[in-house]
Amino acid sequence: MKIITTLAELRDVREKMSPSTVGFVPTMGFLHEGHLSLVKASTSENKFTLVSIFVNPAQFGPHEDLARYPRDFERDKTMLDKLGVDGLFFPTLNEIYPEGYGTYVEVEKLSQALCGKSRPTHFRGVTTVVLKLFNIVKPDQAYFGQKDAQQAIIIKKMTRELNMDINIRTIPIVRDADGLALSSRNCYLSPAERQSALCLSRALRRAQDETRRGCRNATLLKNILHEEINQTIKQDPSISIDYLEVVSLDRLETVATIDMHNTLVAGAIRVGQTRLIDNFILGEI
Ligand code: AMP
Repeated sequence: MKIITTLAELRDVREKMSPSTVGFVPTMGFLHEGHLSLVKASTSENKFTLVSIFVNPAQFGPHEDLARYPRDFERDKTMLDKLGVDGLFFPTLNEIYPEGYGTYVEVEKLSQALCGKSRPTHFRGVTTVVLKLFNIVKPDQAYFGQKDAQQAIIIKKMTRELNMDINIRTIPIVRDADGLALSSRNCYLSPAERQSALCLSRALRRAQDETRRGCRNATLLKNILHEEINQTIKQDPSISIDYLEVVSLDRLETVATIDMHNTLVAGAIRVGQTRLIDNFILGEI
């Protein structure tokens, strides 16, 4: 696996891959099985696979965890090498945002829903870096996790509306055996916090079961989510709810009735200092 740190090297590597198909997996590193499922999808669907590791400052708010975001480049490199990744793009901050950088791209409305309410500049940072990485890597297909469903929906809209010729593939959520959705941020959790954090996946599972039993009432589903999480809050007051929402998959707008082909049930909670998200979808991203 080639380690690529500059745009010039990347251009070289990319040119040699043409005209075969190139799959691309953008990440912020500290890899886990969730990331690896994206990589496996890419290696099985493309002749070549490129992965990027870049902790993107533009998607962190001023009081978020940019400085302490977990990093382990050597471990990540070994994991990717084993999966047969062809190139790992690991740019410096200056390579992506040179001095005086000032161009941003924003997908209106979708960026302000759900996570956008408490993280108002987050998705602008995501779309900007992803657009830049797409222009640099020029992939045929790019892989995103359903774990960050809003992100995948926003990226799809961006590529469609900017007429970009890239197929966006969304890969299901990978969970630990106890149900917790894998996340690089799970390493922040103490054993007790990790136990409490399970309330989010448990609540979503209960709500999903309810839809399987025929429930089409969004208020009812939201009540189930709140009830489950509030039970845990009674025992562990360090937990708080950021949002629990039932929205349409295409517009991320609150719905009253559940459409089994166009619904996202998503939540974000804080467990101590750590913010966690999870969801289930009815339909396809
Ligand atoms: P990150 O490094 O957190 O920016 O994530 C990189 C990519 O991996 C994003 O497309 C995420 O949605 C995806 N991802 C993160 N966690 C999971 C998971 N548990 N299951 C599937 N995909 C994931």
